[in-house]
Amino acid sequence: MKSEAVTTVMLIGFLVMTGCSQRNSSSIDNKVQDLLSRMTLEEKVGQMTQVALEVVSKTRGTWGQKHEVDPEKLREAIVKYHVGSILSVYDLALTLDEWQALITQIQDIATKETNLGIPVIYGIDAIHGANFIREATLFPQSIALAATRNPALVRKSAEITAYEIRAAGIPWNFNPVLGVGRNQLWPRLWETFGEDPYLVSMMGEAYVKGIEGDHNSIGDVDKAAACMKHYIGYSVPLSGKDRTPAWIPERMLREYFLPPFKKAVEAGAHTVMANSGEINGIPVHGDHYLLTEVLKNELGFQGFVVSDWADVKNLYTRDKVCATPEEAVKLAVMAGIDMSMVPTDYSFYEILIKLVEDGEVPEARIDDAVSRILRVKFALNLFENPYPRENMATKVGSPEFARISLRAAREALTLLKNENGFLPLKKGLSVLVTGPNANLRSVLNGGWTYTWQGGEEAVHPKDKKTILEALQDKIGPGNVVYVEGGGHEKAVNAAAEAAKTMDVAVVCIGEAPYAEGAGNIHDLTLPQAQSDLVAAIEKTGTPVVLVLVEGRPRIITPLVDDAQAILMAYLPGPEGGQAIADVLYGDYNPSGKLPYTYPRYPNDLVNYDHKPSEMDHPNKLNPLWEFGHGLSYTAFAYNDLKIDLKEMSSDKSLKVSVNVANSGDRAGKAVVELYLSDLVRSISPPNKQLKRFTGVLLEPGESKTVQFTLDKTDLSFHNRANEFVAEPGEFKITIGNLTDTFTLVAGKE
Ligand code: BGC
Repeated sequence: MKSEAVTTVMLIGFLVMTGCSQRNSSSIDNKVQDLLSRMTLEEKVGQMTQVALEVVSKTRGTWGQKHEVDPEKLREAIVKYHVGSILSVYDLALTLDEWQALITQIQDIATKETNLGIPVIYGIDAIHGANFIREATLFPQSIALAATRNPALVRKSAEITAYEIRAAGIPWNFNPVLGVGRNQLWPRLWETFGEDPYLVSMMGEAYVKGIEGDHNSIGDVDKAAACMKHYIGYSVPLSGKDRTPAWIPERMLREYFLPPFKKAVEAGAHTVMANSGEINGIPVHGDHYLLTEVLKNELGFQGFVVSDWADVKNLYTRDKVCATPEEAVKLAVMAGIDMSMVPTDYSFYEILIKLVEDGEVPEARIDDAVSRILRVKFALNLFENPYPRENMATKVGSPEFARISLRAAREALTLLKNENGFLPLKKGLSVLVTGPNANLRSVLNGGWTYTWQGGEEAVHPKDKKTILEALQDKIGPGNVVYVEGGGHEKAVNAAAEAAKTMDVAVVCIGEAPYAEGAGNIHDLTLPQAQSDLVAAIEKTGTPVVLVLVEGRPRIITPLVDDAQAILMAYLPGPEGGQAIADVLYGDYNPSGKLPYTYPRYPNDLVNYDHKPSEMDHPNKLNPLWEFGHGLSYTAFAYNDLKIDLKEMSSDKSLKVSVNVANSGDRAGKAVVELYLSDLVRSISPPNKQLKRFTGVLLEPGESKTVQFTLDKTDLSFHNRANEFVAEPGEFKITIGNLTDTFTLVAGKE
């Protein structure tokens, strides 16, 4: 194929990269060049090879069995195959001590038994806290964090995550997920920050800064390398099933899916993982345009690209774009993959060496990839000290960190319905607690918790409360009756009978834990057994409060009218039980906002920033709840929306201010969101788009003025030629129930 052209681009890319390193000091570049000049081809290709922990293990870690490394296999990996990276856990999270011993064992071999002493970079999916370290602090999953609309809190959670993985000796986190979650069926929706590109960009940037620090000085003992994933377009499989094709035109890619990655590259993220799926028929792992031309050349990404699990092989075994494993390795490496998560054998290593020896892959491409990897290893200070720091252990899982998690869970909870102010509940009422999610810890955390799928209930620390336990603690066990109410998919039982004599029924429904493809569903509707359970209780006439514990918005339409209140908990993390009890009883005033559109019907999956035709009869968008919806126990009034310029030119910025007042009788947080609508443009405009948001704490009777600044970039979109432009004309600003307009006038350009 176009191998000459590709080679030229790679060489230019390499020269550009080594010639003008943006952020890393030239001293790192010198060290990289020096080391590279002393490496054999085998050592270089080894650096590009990543294997899973299971490859070097004697026994898996399971509930009943301790994980054990096989020292000979480990030596084989590092000394014979020169592997540069190891990842993950072999089934079950390790304790901090076990991690420290494991990392020490690995780095001892890497630094003392190899010619060049290059340390291994260990990577882990710490996606909601250090979820593969047994003692670690876990947080709400990203979808819940998005509902807080609080980037500072996201950053804080990421800082703690970085601290805790580093305490274990792990310097690399496969997070944040920067896919924009625009398909509610997709089982990884909850790993995203929701359906809006701006929200994802803001939260993603905050996360990167939290992991890597203000100046991305990832060599600091409490910082780590972030991994943006999954670049790009993974989050919108057409079928809603994981790792199935996406069809994304260039304009849509640039409007919706590229911005969060652009923002995170600007924030200095050191690594990126490629999308495991295909876009427009081209698997991203073999897409030179996306990986090299857009990511590395256009966005100027200086770090390295790691493949996802077995996805280089998949070009041959699954996607059928390559006829042999050799073709697959060549395609991926020439497309821009720098490190292959192989992850269970050494085929990539063997094949790539041969490809270079045969002249099929130029050594310059290998040098480029290895330089990128070594630069991150130097930046992490692994060459100076690749070992865990013992003195960090005491803060891991500390009460101080848990308080941040509780705060995040509280701020995430989103009150969807509250008929006649039914909530908060009074403490004297008798309460039936039921439903499959009422008395489990695992469901609050979801997947990627201690195990990959997260369903291992016994592993969850008992000092964290289930919803039931938190309610019992809150109002005294004597006021609570618990009836199990059947499983997620099992038939209804005695709960309705018990409800008859109670003042209120708190019914906790939703999903069991799952991760990736195991969470594929054929229907977004809540499983019938749970609908039956709720319907039977609603029929008794006892007021029902629904608590939704779920990774994606399952359809509950028939149950909504008869429920007095509905609280969305998402996957709120280990403090979720406590946070839910706090909100139900008014000890915390809810402020969360939906990070996605909650659909009313399974075949009516749309996003809030829909096109004009989607509002026309008979297509009228009619979700159960819109993106941004979320009630409070107090009331907020918006007044005085002001735009400082009625006419704006593209060299000017625009100031928008609004007054928000707490007109109710409780303190609360108002989330002020600014939406922009371009009323007419050459590409049909979205109804509205989120451009700014902020949280404002207000005492009863208090008011504050909030100011936002917009500039030309906020008004721009990709036109018919895919140029990023702002077209003159009228724009509308919406904040709360207020709107105003301004005009962009033609500039001199
Ligand atoms: C997932 C990635 C993850 C990797 C390593 C893959 O299956 O798609 O998100 O980082 O496994 O665990």
